Amino acid sequence: MKPIAKSSKLANVCYDIRGPVLDKARQMEDEGQKIIKLNIGNIAAFGLEPPDEIVQDMIRNMPHTAGYTDSKGLFAPRKAVVHYTQEKNIRGVTVDDVYLGNGASELIVMSLNALLNDGDEVLLPSPDYPLYTAGVALSGGTPVHYVCDEQSGWFPDIEDIKKKITPRTKAIVVINPNNPTGALYPVEVLQQIVDIARQHELVVFADEIYDKTLYDGVSHTSIASLADDVLFVTFNGLSKNYRSCGYRAGWMVVSGERRHAKDYIEGLNMLASMRLCSNTPGQLAIQTALGGYQSIKDLVAPGGRLCRQRDLAYELLSQIPGVSVVKPKAALYMFPRLDPKLYPIADDQQFAYELLAEEKVLIVQGTGFNWSAPDHFRLVFLPNSDDLTDAIGRIARFLDHYRKR
Ligand code: PLP
Repeated sequence: MKPIAKSSKLANVCYDIRGPVLDKARQMEDEGQKIIKLNIGNIAAFGLEPPDEIVQDMIRNMPHTAGYTDSKGLFAPRKAVVHYTQEKNIRGVTVDDVYLGNGASELIVMSLNALLNDGDEVLLPSPDYPLYTAGVALSGGTPVHYVCDEQSGWFPDIEDIKKKITPRTKAIVVINPNNPTGALYPVEVLQQIVDIARQHELVVFADEIYDKTLYDGVSHTSIASLADDVLFVTFNGLSKNYRSCGYRAGWMVVSGERRHAKDYIEGLNMLASMRLCSNTPGQLAIQTALGGYQSIKDLVAPGGRLCRQRDLAYELLSQIPGVSVVKPKAALYMFPRLDPKLYPIADDQQFAYELLAEEKVLIVQGTGFNWSAPDHFRLVFLPNSDDLTDAIGRIARFLDHYRKR
């Protein structure tokens, strides 16, 4: 028989957050070993259940939500999203501009597929949330990474963005608050990106899925609130701010300059229709969540569980020789640096394997986020303080052995 090969469309598609190191961890778990997982931002799995009102509404809505809906979604939750855009000062959004999805992920891939022709370039952050790089590659586009600068607190390097624009650049992705670095971008940085997008007629894809997961009293500005003459596609959802990853409830808002984007919007509508609709109980959960007050706020406030865990992880990591880390202002992640003089890592996936095998701690290697050097890793600070202390203690022990090899 002829071998059945995967499509060549997947040749450059990579998603290491759920890659080979996770497969190894699963195998170890099947053998009965306990793994401490610092690899995925799956909040509910760490005892941080979704707000009760959302759970109860999911249950109540289940019996009468077995039918398809409009492909963009039900009117009422889309209207709730419109109100949310008003709170965030994004102007001129109507229900027609809102698409509901099975998580933001589905909509991210859809929006890239609808835009890109073979060889079209998209500017993506490095480090990135790898779905974007994978989605661009799957759509036939060419990912072009701009550097986020660790020295500046991981803000996008505006000069690097400018240098990387070519006649084929179609769009720029801005992940703010950021995964994997935990950075929150100041308005001035966002404004500079908007100016570049205006000048080069780029679509701005804005991922704001962590926009309520904020520490130290900082506030978030939606990049789409900064201009009316640039096309913005903003992604958000319940997975993180409402601890409901498994309900697969996300949304996408098209805003700004839409007059010249009729054809693209037709493409979005076509792809939304092809997947019929997103899951209906999840759609209604969006209405419940946005109409209520139980987001992640208490957990991220000073003294809240996530805030305490962020502080603890930051302190413990900073004490390890040769490890430095920018303290996150937002989200659930840190992206520590390993000084190459102390830790001459040639292959950081191998590094992650060895950490898993020796200490049973699962992290994701930095190159999995399209970071070019093997000198970073991402850690999720979701486990409770005891588990986090244990896990970082194990990382410290592993690094101590690594240094002395
Ligand atoms: N965008 C970012 C930046 C993320 O970190 C994640 C999940 O980790 C997603 C999107 C996916 O969100 P969803 O669960 O809504 O598909």
